[in-house]
Amino acid sequence: MPELPEVETVKRTLENFILNKKIKDIEVIYPRIIEDDVEVFKQRVVNKTFLKIDRVGKYLIFILEDIAFVSHLRMEGKYQICTKETSLSKHDHVIFYLDDDTQLRYNDVRKFGRMKLVDKESYKTLKPLNQLGKEPFEADVNEIYQRLKNKDTAIKTALLDQTLLAGIGNIYANEICYAMHLNPQTKAKALSKKRVKELIEVSSFILNEAIKQGGTTIHSFSANGIDGLFQVQLKVHMQEKCPQGHDIKKISLNGRGTYYCPICQKARR
Ligand SMILES: [Zn+2]
Repeated sequence: MPELPEVETVKRTLENFILNKKIKDIEVIYPRIIEDDVEVFKQRVVNKTFLKIDRVGKYLIFILEDIAFVSHLRMEGKYQICTKETSLSKHDHVIFYLDDDTQLRYNDVRKFGRMKLVDKESYKTLKPLNQLGKEPFEADVNEIYQRLKNKDTAIKTALLDQTLLAGIGNIYANEICYAMHLNPQTKAKALSKKRVKELIEVSSFILNEAIKQGGTTIHSFSANGIDGLFQVQLKVHMQEKCPQGHDIKKISLNGRGTYYCPICQKARR
């Protein structure tokens, strides 16, 4: 599932291909991807030009003159730039026909991704974006500390809560706990304010490093489209040994695959 760095990579890549292009027509093959009435969506979006792409947490916001729409890739959504010669995949669900005769296709094997019209001025203050916490880059230590202080859940589970911090998913939550030498099962409320400050700094650092890697590895669209997933150097997630050579343990925490090193990541520190 794409997390903040991957969605940022999708945003930066798409900017090179669609900005200042006008949508001539839209074909919606699988209507459930569009949360609005499909005809209303088409009416509002056709004949508009992509002016800007914004990102909040894992959401992309496409800004089109007087309207905008939010797109969430969920599990496997991806965008692809095609020409009319590119054969249609059975997983292509929405096609934007652009005025330079290219097509922006939304492809989603699992069909969980969604698009929804939003007001271009106030989208950050409306559902679903107003329910998100701040991204780690701008999070306030006191505020996060106050919220974690009352949480009986494991810290790794708390990191996945998008209302606490936006943008962190399962992969980076595992990596952040490793970088903190923190056992992912540690209760969120056990973290001191000093550790919470460190948690925010480490989260920002790890997400930024992943954005940098995405930026250097992806310059164009592959044949498979772009979901932003790239080869990040992961230290514990899906690994067998930690960088120190210890065996990684895999457990399930709140139903999510959790990888950690029992030696490097002691329960408390
Ligand atoms: Zn280790």
